[in-house]
Amino acid sequence: MRITRSIRLGVGIAALAVVATACGGGEEARNVSSSAENGNLIVGIKFDQPGLGLRNPDGSFSGFDVEVAKYVAGQLGVSEENIEFKESPSAQRETLIQNGEVDYIVATYSITDTRKEKVGFAGPYFVAGQSLLVADGNTDITGPDSLSGGKKLCSVTGSTPAQNIADEYPGVQLQPFDTYSACVEALRNGAVDAVTTDDIILAGYAAQYPGELKVVGEPFTTENYGIGLSKDDTEGRDKINDAIEEMVSTGAWKTAFEETVGPSGYPLPAPPTVDRY
Ligand code: GLU
Repeated sequence: MRITRSIRLGVGIAALAVVATACGGGEEARNVSSSAENGNLIVGIKFDQPGLGLRNPDGSFSGFDVEVAKYVAGQLGVSEENIEFKESPSAQRETLIQNGEVDYIVATYSITDTRKEKVGFAGPYFVAGQSLLVADGNTDITGPDSLSGGKKLCSVTGSTPAQNIADEYPGVQLQPFDTYSACVEALRNGAVDAVTTDDIILAGYAAQYPGELKVVGEPFTTENYGIGLSKDDTEGRDKINDAIEEMVSTGAWKTAFEETVGPSGYPLPAPPTVDRY
C-alpha cells in the first residue's frame, strides 16, 4: 500500500514537472514595449527581503523594489493589477531574463560587466554596499578581515557579495545558500557566524529581529542596483531609464524609499544618476 502510494505520488510529481516546464517561458527573451502594449508585465522581484522585495502572508507584495517595479510599469502604461510578480532568486536572474520568463527584474540586482554579457540594465536606481550581519551580542566580527580563523560566513550563490568573498578573502569559510532568508535562519540558530550581502538588505533583516541581529562595520563594495532586462532591448532600456528619472524628479523615489526602507533606520541617500551606456 505504502509503496503504491509513493509511486503514484512520484508519477504525479513528474507529471507536474512536465507541465511546469511546458508553461515556463518562451525560451526567447521578451521585449518590454511589446509586453506593455499587450497590457501585462511579468516582473521579477525577491520574495524574502523585507523592505525591498517581500511576499506578505496575505499574498500582497511590498518593498522599495516593488515600488520601483510598479512605478516603471505605470510609466509603460501598465497598471499594478496587470503586473505578475515572479520570484527571482539571485542565481536565476540572468536565466529568467534570457528565457523570457520575465520582462524585467527589480531585485537588488547589481549592474556588473559579467552580467552585462548576458542581460541589459537600466539604472542604477540605487547604490548600496556590501556589509555584514551578526548576532547582537557578537563583538569579534567587525569587518571582512575579522572573518578568518574558522568563522562561518553565509551568502547566496550567484550573488556579487559571495563572489567578492571568494575572490578577495579566500581564507574565509563561505557557506553558499539559495536565499538570504535561509542565511538569516542559519545565523539565528547559530549554524553560521555572519551573513554577508548589501547593507540595505541586511538592515531589513536586522529590523525584523531587533535586539537579536545587527549590521556591523563599514560597507566594503559599491553595488549599483539596475533593472535587468533583455540584452538587446535597447528601446525598453531607454523607457525604463526615463521612468527611473521621472520617479526621482517627481519625488516618488524618495517617498517610496521612506515608506519601505525608512523604518529600518537605513538613511536616505542621494539618488544615483542613470547611466545610459
Ligand atoms: N546586489 C548583489 C547582487 O546582485 C547582492 C544582492 C542579491 O543577491 O540580490 O548579487
